[in-house]
Amino acid sequence: MRLLPLLAALAFSTAAIAGPNDTVRTYPAQKVGASTWVIHGPQGLPSVENQGFMNNPAWVVTKDSVVVIDPGSSVQAGRMVVAQIRKATQLPVTHVFNTHVHGDHWLGNQAILEAWPKATIIAHPDMIRVAKEGADAFWLKLMSDMTQGYTDGTRAEIPTVPTADGQEFKIGGKTFRIHASSDAHSKTDDMIEVAEDRILFTGDNVLARQVMNLRDGTFKGVMKATDRALAVNARVYVPGHGTSGDRTFVEEQKAWFDILLPEVRRMYNDGKSDYEMKPVLAEKLKAYRNWAEWDLNLGPQISLAILEVEQE
Ligand SMILES: [Zn+2]
Repeated sequence: MRLLPLLAALAFSTAAIAGPNDTVRTYPAQKVGASTWVIHGPQGLPSVENQGFMNNPAWVVTKDSVVVIDPGSSVQAGRMVVAQIRKATQLPVTHVFNTHVHGDHWLGNQAILEAWPKATIIAHPDMIRVAKEGADAFWLKLMSDMTQGYTDGTRAEIPTVPTADGQEFKIGGKTFRIHASSDAHSKTDDMIEVAEDRILFTGDNVLARQVMNLRDGTFKGVMKATDRALAVNARVYVPGHGTSGDRTFVEEQKAWFDILLPEVRRMYNDGKSDYEMKPVLAEKLKAYRNWAEWDLNLGPQISLAILEVEQE
């Protein structure tokens, strides 16, 4: 009889602490270039169903090492990424780029360091600052809450090496060129171009067929970053969410914002309120009606666009 409470306590404590083998279910890695793989996570908010995993972890194999971009939302997601990398190559991970401060992209850093303790983690200087100022705890709690504790055991491993706009990291014979901005999706965003392979990792500055959550960013900055992504003229674009591809989905995002912002400006000048604008915009944007998170983010985008137009 006395064993029962003990077993219950053990069961509870193992549920609360991530064991070394806890990983999210496996998603296939897709080869999108000669030396680049992407695990396209499901689109949507972190949930019990998706175990909090919903971004696009990726890696580039260089001459003598592996470079990871955004290893996922938790240590459990990161371990799935590590297992996939190990299946693909024997080379060690030496560098990790985190595209921005939103935790779905970087809380998997812990799993990379578990496997390769000497790996260097690199990000926008404002990403590092904001993470240290409390975004780390905020995102750990948000992930835990949205997955009902599945991601518990995850620690925030904050990047240590800051980037600068235009900086080039030469790693294993490849050039990783930084396109940084302080006013785009999260105001902490780096896009990473692999020059020799003509691949651009856009982070969440560009999403593939998904209506963006812009609560932490600005329209002006995202539109500028979208233009910059197009100017890179990459052969392959890897978005923060959604499926990788050629420039088509980047042009679609540009078209979306080129409709939304001027229409909001016009109706704002006509004295319209956000609830009057929404049906007009839903009609003007109906070509994109099947994009992910339409219901969740169209209304908030209109409200945020009004605030930005007010400040012009
Ligand atoms: Zn994201």
